Amino acid sequence: MSNRLIISLPVKPYAKMSVGRMTTPILGESLAKSFDGNFVMSINDLSSYDTRESSSFIELLNHYNINPNSFWIDREHIQELIEKVYLLIEKGFIREEEKELLRCECGKTEIAKDNISTINFKDSLFEIRDGKYYCKFCHSECIISKEVALVFNSRLVDKNGMLFYPYFMNKDKKTFDNTVGNNDIVISRKRDTGIIIEYNSHIYNLDIDFLWEVFLSLFSDEEKIVMCGNHQMYQLYMVGMLEKCFNKNSNTVCLATPYLESSSDEAKLENRALSLKVYSLLVMRWAKKENTFDPALLNYINTMNVEKKQMLYEILIEGVECTHDIGSDLQLVLGRKYNFQVANTELKRRRRNV
Ligand SMILES: [Zn+2]
Repeated sequence: MSNRLIISLPVKPYAKMSVGRMTTPILGESLAKSFDGNFVMSINDLSSYDTRESSSFIELLNHYNINPNSFWIDREHIQELIEKVYLLIEKGFIREEEKELLRCECGKTEIAKDNISTINFKDSLFEIRDGKYYCKFCHSECIISKEVALVFNSRLVDKNGMLFYPYFMNKDKKTFDNTVGNNDIVISRKRDTGIIIEYNSHIYNLDIDFLWEVFLSLFSDEEKIVMCGNHQMYQLYMVGMLEKCFNKNSNTVCLATPYLESSSDEAKLENRALSLKVYSLLVMRWAKKENTFDPALLNYINTMNVEKKQMLYEILIEGVECTHDIGSDLQLVLGRKYNFQVANTELKRRRRNV
């Protein structure tokens, strides 16, 4: 086995089949097979607000015959993660600083004024009306107050070696370098998050997302591919950047998978493990950020006989010779191998030779 680790960003567990969301486990499993490495499926079970169902998610993957080498659940590693945060304090990346914070009445919205420009408004907890900030949960206006908070100074991180795939995502990385990567990120919260950090005898509640974002440093494998959907680019950037704080020579590749449009036709893949895998691998267009649903491909795969489909899947996950350059290995597998024309031609050739 190679020392390559394919690991997902901790995902929020879900219990229902969805092509878009299941891309990550399917792709992780097949990349591990192609590279003869390990696939660790990470689960984000830590949350301040709701309890989530990791076990039904694991059952769902079982049901679709998706078998990571192991699962990593953030809730089971809180202490190790906290130790990594203390290490960041020791290394000087985290300090106390007086900041202007915007906070709503319920406390769910809590942001530093400095960080507003780095926020993705589509996923944010607040909205702006007439230049004022309102919480989407409690609808109260966010009020500014000056407070001492814990901040992570991302200017101190050497981000040159951070590599994203597909390569065009490195343009987004550059944009992040100038915003998130050139800022103090407020990582403490006034509300009770359940995670306590002590700094200079002051007690802080740590932001839960920041806690799990240090998770990559717990894995010592030499070569890592960390993956998630490209709509989670902010978290992927944070994870890549935080790993650099612990190991500035790491050559981890941050893999941002295309966003797959959903369709009610997905139901045709319900309970069809092999079809779902083959469809997911072949539908992705790596040159684009957003991928459209492909009903013709789905129908073609669904009507193939099982023996042919199994052969096609095996062609897709076959091992490749690994070089020292994970980026070009990924290019080969994602760009050339997971390609309908290429795989189907190979399938026909092999069946002729049987
Ligand atoms: Zn609120």
